[in-house]
Amino acid sequence: MKKIIPFFIFSLFSISIVAQVPATAKKSTLSKPKLVVGIVVDQMRFDYIFRYWDKFGNDGFKRLVNQGYFCKNTNFNYVPTYTAPGHAAIYTGTAPAVNGIIANEWYDKKTGENKYCVSDNTVSGLGTSASEGKRSPANMLTTSICDELRLSTNMKSKVIGIALKDRSAILPAGHTANAAYWYDGSVGSFISSTYYMNELPAWVTDFNKKELAKKYLSQPWNTLLPIEHYSESLPDDNKYETLAKGETKPVFPHNLPELMNKNGGLNLIRNTPFGNSLTKDFAIETIIHENLGKSEATDFLAVSFSSPDYIGHSYGPNSVEQEDDYLRLDKDLAELLKFIDTHVGINNTLIFLTADHAAPEVPSYLSDLKIPSGYVNEKKMIDSLKKYFIKNCNDSLILSYTNQQLFLNHHIIESKNISLPQVVDHIVSYLQTIPEVSEVLTAEVLNNTQFTEGIRYLMQKGFNTKRSGDVFVNYLPGYINHPSATGTTHGSPYSYDTHVPLLFYGWTIKHGSTINQIDITDIAPTLSMMLNIPFPNGCTGKPILFE
Ligand SMILES: [Zn+2]
Repeated sequence: MKKIIPFFIFSLFSISIVAQVPATAKKSTLSKPKLVVGIVVDQMRFDYIFRYWDKFGNDGFKRLVNQGYFCKNTNFNYVPTYTAPGHAAIYTGTAPAVNGIIANEWYDKKTGENKYCVSDNTVSGLGTSASEGKRSPANMLTTSICDELRLSTNMKSKVIGIALKDRSAILPAGHTANAAYWYDGSVGSFISSTYYMNELPAWVTDFNKKELAKKYLSQPWNTLLPIEHYSESLPDDNKYETLAKGETKPVFPHNLPELMNKNGGLNLIRNTPFGNSLTKDFAIETIIHENLGKSEATDFLAVSFSSPDYIGHSYGPNSVEQEDDYLRLDKDLAELLKFIDTHVGINNTLIFLTADHAAPEVPSYLSDLKIPSGYVNEKKMIDSLKKYFIKNCNDSLILSYTNQQLFLNHHIIESKNISLPQVVDHIVSYLQTIPEVSEVLTAEVLNNTQFTEGIRYLMQKGFNTKRSGDVFVNYLPGYINHPSATGTTHGSPYSYDTHVPLLFYGWTIKHGSTINQIDITDIAPTLSMMLNIPFPNGCTGKPILFE
């Protein structure tokens, strides 16, 4: 008997284990995509989708709109609307106030020097000896959705960020990424840093050896369609476009082989649609060689197409150049989607597409159309303030005016026993007399008042107590700080800069659309809900309700 009882108990135990196996197996079949592909287009206005609709093919942007879910009223919910804060907000689900990415480059109060958003002197470049290799996400204060994916799968998910711009590859992929790759025009290659790895993978070196940048630049940039078809844009030769060095008119064809020497060598590819093609080529190679979407855990590829921003800055939103850029990007997008179809399967892949900011019309063009607009002379504005303080306090008291934020010299103010509130009051009163200035908010006000809507709310979300300046300035709609009356720039809280497309597609996404107001910081928590993983650790956005 003594032997029978233990055997009986053991048998029951064994049966219960066996009985649990199917239940465990069932649990593991929780639906999840094999791959997430985040696509950010640098400087894409919401209306480009419709403006160029008739000229797009069926397999790029139209495929996302016709089969995916379109959040038509998505806006950035802070200022400044620049590239680094844009990518950080999309992927961290929060604004500069929390994630600390207050601009592309900002005045660093600790060192007294300008700090680039992804600079990191503790790491070295891989594939380059240039300082462009010394990059990491260390300045971003919170996790990205990609970090949360890695953490929640015990680091089994693979995460890779790629873009021509370093900040657009690095910030989305987050702190725990397997890799981020960006383009170095001095070598015409995709590079990385020792933050991620000790040496470039062989497949990256092999890709670079193909010298695709050089090949793309070996031919003139001509329009994809006959030029008379570009009726959505201004005439090719117009006074609102910036000339490339070596050109006498801003017109097609742009002779790229000839222009290379005077326009940054292989960096010139950034200012052409072929920068997007090169990024697409590299994205496809990344998926193949890193086996993305081929394991049990969900992988994440964060891709950003940077060229539309360079082209927008030079030629503006109404140029044939930008239209051609988007028609070609549409083809690159179609190729990427087709590759995903065959390599991973669209039902296994969750795709989203958005932009890091939009862009205004060229102000001089608007002025000619009698729309209030123009240029802010920041140097003149701040020099006048400096002169006043030098006269009255024997010191300019101003350390920097960058990103529309004014940084005061607190050391001098304290050591000279000058009243800080009086200095700030004078600055506010003076700035309010400048015709192009619409809002002047002090750090004091931003730290002690809770704004809930409007421009001041957007300024507060872009204000980081530790990193931002003493006074935050906003300009009137239509006014920009830009060195010339050609081309354009972005950064404002107005819809021409904040309103961007947001499309979800693939995996279990149903076709549809909404005009509900969606904040850019809602994307990351929406992905969290889809992937059943935690929100990024500073997240302030809310998951989108699909109708
Ligand atoms: Zn830009």
